[in-house]
Amino acid sequence: MTKQYAVIGLGRFGGSICRTLSEQGQEVMAIDKSEEIVNEYKDLATYAIIANTTEQNMLKSLGIGNFDHVIVAIGDDIQASLLTTIMLKELDVKKVTAKAITEYHGRILYRIGADNVVHPERDMGKRVANHILSSSMLDY
Ligand code: ATP
Repeated sequence: MTKQYAVIGLGRFGGSICRTLSEQGQEVMAIDKSEEIVNEYKDLATYAIIANTTEQNMLKSLGIGNFDHVIVAIGDDIQASLLTTIMLKELDVKKVTAKAITEYHGRILYRIGADNVVHPERDMGKRVANHILSSSMLDY
């Protein structure tokens, strides 16, 4: 069954989520404030939209409240990440997953209503360390 997804922020992390969902046949709206980046997703995503998601009217006009799951993949601009997340929840998006770049950023994201928070670099570091440990156990 296909669901409606939107990915906001098409850096390495958001871009990879967008590409994977599209390859799996899901409906994806790819959103970024940079026209140059959005152009790279025109043939890949169902819709590719240039938008600054800190503008509430812009988010409303995209009908984002009807989406099943929105991924906020803005990291460096913490204010934009938080504002976007708050507004998505105010617009009744069912599920919001947000990327955090620090522990504190992650805690605030949960406090303001994110359903799921991911720390891509921290989590990948843990996975790689566990993988290194499990392969060195096998060496014995
Ligand atoms: P990554 O680690 O995923 O590559 P990054 O560190 O390169 O990300 P970020 O600052 O996390 O970059 O931003 C990711 C994307 O989010 C960028 O392409 C940026 O244009 C976009 N972005 C930032 N602020 C907004 C905003 N207010 N509205 C829409 N897109 C935004």
